[in-house]
Amino acid sequence: MIKYPKEVILIDLDNTLTDTEGNSCAAMRSMYNELGLSAQFPPFESFWNVYSTCNDDLWGRYRQGTLSRERLNELRFTWPMALMGVEDETLAARICEVFYKYFLPMTGTVPGAYELLDYLSQKYRLAVLSNGTKSSQIVKMKNFRFEPYFEKVYLSDDIGYPKPDVRIFQYALNDMGVKPESALMIGDDFEGDIVGAANAGIEQVWLHAAGWNGESPAPSLTIRTLAELHSVL
Ligand SMILES: [Mg+2]
Repeated sequence: MIKYPKEVILIDLDNTLTDTEGNSCAAMRSMYNELGLSAQFPPFESFWNVYSTCNDDLWGRYRQGTLSRERLNELRFTWPMALMGVEDETLAARICEVFYKYFLPMTGTVPGAYELLDYLSQKYRLAVLSNGTKSSQIVKMKNFRFEPYFEKVYLSDDIGYPKPDVRIFQYALNDMGVKPESALMIGDDFEGDIVGAANAGIEQVWLHAAGWNGESPAPSLTIRTLAELHSVL
């Protein structure tokens, strides 16, 4: 249950508004086919599984503050490639380049993203709060036509701390001039979005298709689809 009236809504970008996982998988498949990777690597489904397991692990370390952005970017392709028996930095750089060629123009959203933004932007001041790489996030904000909806875009690359560090939440609250109880965080990542916001005294909405299953702290509200928010906010 959301207790306090809200003035500002902080919204995560990846997998909350943009379908980053779906877009990444499609871009990875196009890259895999263009570079003919089946000659050196396992079939695409296995390639994708190894990549996404490594990617989730790297982003988790970045959130925990034990891995720098620079090192994350270095390991993003070289690590899964090494696990699949290929150590080739030139090929890793080429894979990265071709992946982004396909990924950056993709505009698949989480269902209901634009409807939610149309609705919320009439009633609240909106800001993005994201751990995503700055260069990618700038392109996404433009390509998805998200810019008009948001008063501010807070990126961990600019602020210097990733979610769930409370300092990135406090920075956003101070910059927008609101108290924690007047803000709400909406996001899909339990650790970054929910735990982080809770530690900063901000109520949270967890977008999680599987629903809440006893995770602690219990989110203020758990939704399975974005459309559920129209009757709540
Ligand atoms: Mg996310």
